[in-house]
Amino acid sequence: MYHIFPILVLLLTTLKLYLNYRQKNAVKNNRTKVPIKFVSSISLSEHQKSADYTLAKLKFNNIKIIIDGMILIMLTSCGLIQYLDNIIIRYYPSLSIIFQGILLIGTIGLLGFIIDTPFDLYHTFILEERFGFNKTTAKIFILDNIKTVVLSVILGAPLLYLIFWLMQIMGNLWWIWVWSAFCGFNILIMFIYPTVIAPLFNKFLPLNDKTLEEKIYALLNKCGFKSSGIFVMDGSKRSGHGNAYFTGIGKNKRIVFFDTLIKQLTPDEIEAVLAHELGHFKKKHIIKQIGVSFSMLLAMLYLLSVFIHEPVFYNMLGVTHMTNYNALILISIALGVVSFPFTPLMSYMSRKNEFEADDYAKQISNKNHLIAGLVKLYKENSSTLTPDDLYAKFYYSHPPASIRIAHLELDSNK
Ligand SMILES: [Zn+2]
Repeated sequence: MYHIFPILVLLLTTLKLYLNYRQKNAVKNNRTKVPIKFVSSISLSEHQKSADYTLAKLKFNNIKIIIDGMILIMLTSCGLIQYLDNIIIRYYPSLSIIFQGILLIGTIGLLGFIIDTPFDLYHTFILEERFGFNKTTAKIFILDNIKTVVLSVILGAPLLYLIFWLMQIMGNLWWIWVWSAFCGFNILIMFIYPTVIAPLFNKFLPLNDKTLEEKIYALLNKCGFKSSGIFVMDGSKRSGHGNAYFTGIGKNKRIVFFDTLIKQLTPDEIEAVLAHELGHFKKKHIIKQIGVSFSMLLAMLYLLSVFIHEPVFYNMLGVTHMTNYNALILISIALGVVSFPFTPLMSYMSRKNEFEADDYAKQISNKNHLIAGLVKLYKENSSTLTPDDLYAKFYYSHPPASIRIAHLELDSNK
C-alpha cells in the first residue's frame, strides 16, 4: 500500500522518458530532409539547426524529468516533508499552526528554487546561448530571480494565511470558501498582471509604427474589440524567440507583441497573427479556460475535504503529522502525478482552440499572410517541423506545423 506513490512516480517518469525518446527518434530520422511543404521557405541548414536544437532540449529535459521524480520520492516516501515539519515545530514551537504551515511551504519552495537554479542557468546560458537565442545577461538573470522570489512571498504568504484561516474556522464546507478565495485572488492577479506585475520584468511601449497601427486599429474595429492598447514588449532583452499574446481581463485587456516578432514579420503578417489572437477572444477561449481551471480546482479541494481526515492519505505520502497545511501540500503533490495522464486531453482542447482561432483569422484576414508569418516563426524559433505523432498528441498545445498549415490552406470554413 505504501509503495503505491513511488510506483506511480516511477511509471510517470518512464512514460515521460518514453515520449521524449519517441520525439528524439522522429526528429533525428527526419534531420536530413526538409519536409516537402517547407522546401521553398526553409533551408536544409535551418532545418538541421532546429533538429539539433530540439534534440539538445530533449536531452536536457530527460535529466530534469529524472531529478524531478527523485525529488518527489524524497519529499514523500523518504520523509523529507515530515523531517522539515519536525524541525519547524521544534525550533518555532510558539508560532501559530498557520505560520508553521506558511514556513514549511516557504521552505519547500526555497528548496525547489535552489534545485532549479542550476537547470535555469544551464538552459539560459549554455543551451539557448549555443543556438544563438540567449540575450539574457547575468544581471538580468539575478534581478529576475530576486523579483520572482520577492513577488512569491508578497503574494503567496497572505494568500496561504487566508486559506489556512478559512480551513480552520469555516467548518465542513471550508473547501467552498477556500475555492472562492482562490478564484477571487486569481481574478485579481489577472486584472493587475498587465499593469502591475508584467512591467516589473519588461518594458511595454505603445506601438510606434503608423502604418502598422492603422492596419491594426482597422482590424480591431472590424471585429469590435476594445482593449486598453497595443503594446510592444522588449522580449529581445532576454531571448531571440518571438511571440504575441493577450493579457488581462475586462477593461484591462491588452495585446502584446514581442519586439522580436515585430522585427521578424511584415505588417501584413503581423495583422494576420493578430487576427488569430482575436479569434481566441471572439470564441471566448480565455473565459472557457478560466472556467475549466476553476472547476478543476473545486474538484481538487472537494477531494481534499474527503482525504483530510484519513490517516492513510498522509501515511501513504510519508507524513505522520495530520495538519491542514500538510494535507494541502500532499494533495498538490499527489494530483501533480495523478493528473499527468490527462495532459493529452488538455492539449487536445488547446489544439482545437487553435484551429478555431485560425478559422476566424481566415475570415477576417488573409490566410496566406498567416501561413507566411507562421512559417517565419517556426524558422526563427527553430521549432521542429517533424514531431512524433504520439508526443505531439500528448504535449502540443498548438497543432504541429504541417497539420496547422494544411488546415489553413483548406478553402471551406466550418
Ligand atoms: Zn493561438
